[in-house]
Amino acid sequence: MRDKRKFYINGKWVNPIIKNDLEVINPSNEVAYATISLGTKSDVNLAVDSAKNSFLTWNNVSKKEKIKLLEKLLSIYKNRWDDITQTISEEMGAPLDWSSSAQTSSGFDHIDDFIQRLKEFEFEKKFNENSNNYIIYEPIGVCGLITPWNWPINQITLKVIPALAVGCTMILKPSEIAPLSGMLFAELIHEAGFPAGVFNLVNGDGAGVGTDLSSHTDIDMISFTGSTRAGKLISKNAADTIKRVCLELGGKGGNIVFADSHPNAVREGVKNIMSNSGQSCDAPTRMLVEKSIYKRAIEEAADEANKMKVDIASKKGNHIGPVISQKQYDKIIDLINSGIEEGARLVAGGPEKPNGLEKGYFVKPTIFTDVTNDMRIAKEEIFGPVLSIIPFEDEDEAVSIVNDTSYGLGNYVQTQDKEKAQRVARKFRSGGVYINGHSADPGTPFGGYRQSGNGREGGDWGLEEYLEIKTICGWE
Ligand code: NAD
Repeated sequence: MRDKRKFYINGKWVNPIIKNDLEVINPSNEVAYATISLGTKSDVNLAVDSAKNSFLTWNNVSKKEKIKLLEKLLSIYKNRWDDITQTISEEMGAPLDWSSSAQTSSGFDHIDDFIQRLKEFEFEKKFNENSNNYIIYEPIGVCGLITPWNWPINQITLKVIPALAVGCTMILKPSEIAPLSGMLFAELIHEAGFPAGVFNLVNGDGAGVGTDLSSHTDIDMISFTGSTRAGKLISKNAADTIKRVCLELGGKGGNIVFADSHPNAVREGVKNIMSNSGQSCDAPTRMLVEKSIYKRAIEEAADEANKMKVDIASKKGNHIGPVISQKQYDKIIDLINSGIEEGARLVAGGPEKPNGLEKGYFVKPTIFTDVTNDMRIAKEEIFGPVLSIIPFEDEDEAVSIVNDTSYGLGNYVQTQDKEKAQRVARKFRSGGVYINGHSADPGTPFGGYRQSGNGREGGDWGLEEYLEIKTICGWE
């Protein structure tokens, strides 16, 4: 059993003030392999004091020096690539190859891109040539960063790096279910030589440390990624202190497959939802298929899901791993059963465990067809390898089904007609649109409409989230 009970506060690994252990469980075998501590208000106060005390110093460190530190961090990250990959794989069940090529690489790309953005970002400018007004961007202050387990390092780097880059100081609370990659990241920060107190890490759960951070009077901003449920609580807890709250929440993405789409569109859509075992906020979980190709689409989708291998995360190869926890497993199985009860047609997978994988939180890649948008499987975020296929007659109907959700994160469209693709992309009510499987470039903004959140992470938008804007009149 690994002892990971300490927190990283003011440049040192320190014991929690009150002993409060939590076991970290490997989702591939249900075995506890590390112990962390759940922090309390006193730990949070120590970390906030440390971040507050280092704010002025860090704020005054030059852009050039900050870039040097971030470049050092990037090179340490590269050297520790295999450790990061291994840690993510063990804590959240990503198979090793996927953990490296998708999870670890996302963190590298974010650090790399933010360094470029910082180099180019103008922190001060004249309002316009004829004006005597001057605009200055300044760091907002002390930030509480709360992250989930499904893309742990992706989310940590999307928050920590821009906050560091613009001069904020911070307290990170990674997910208590997958906290070890966050703790490894703290080691990298330490090794890179960031001044003590600039970055702090306190483990804990949502009701404890999460709430203490959200309501803290000395925290100026919360950046949160996680469920819409927790996003609402954080907003309420933050209200009394009027701190800035940036939220990246859940999703229920639609993927319109028109009859004139690329011949591989259905198979690619299935692979996309099943990757990361369906645990991605922007996964295309509802596939809308034009009626004229509906029968073929069902056959292809079922075939693709049946071909997909499920196995433990420590094996190399092109399979999907378990889902994160017993709680998440139970939720997914409950939703699969609700699909059957509500009359959707199960054409692949189902609620039973895959053969030979009785231990571990494994779910079969599951496909439902004849789904209607009012069923629970079409409305609720399942966060597992489950796809709902819904038939449609025409473009307007398809778009209205996709938009008929409380979420608005990522939507997808498949057609070889460029005009139609662009028209549909404009009609989607979501922060991201993916045409014919194209992915987002590093540095593009990421975030949601409606109950998928507010604000944008990545690129200049990601830097601006951590900045205050000052207008100075009569500058010259
Ligand atoms: P979660 O909301 O249960 O937990 C996320 C984090 O919030 C954890 O660190 C948790 O301890 C903390 N938390 C929980 N309740 C809290 C509270 N009341 N106050 C403060 N903090 C609290 O979510 P999860 O199960 O870890 O992650 C999955 C969810 O995250 C999904 O809904 C998914 O769609 C969403 N997600 C969104 C994005 C995005 O960018 N939009 C990216 C990844 C994941």
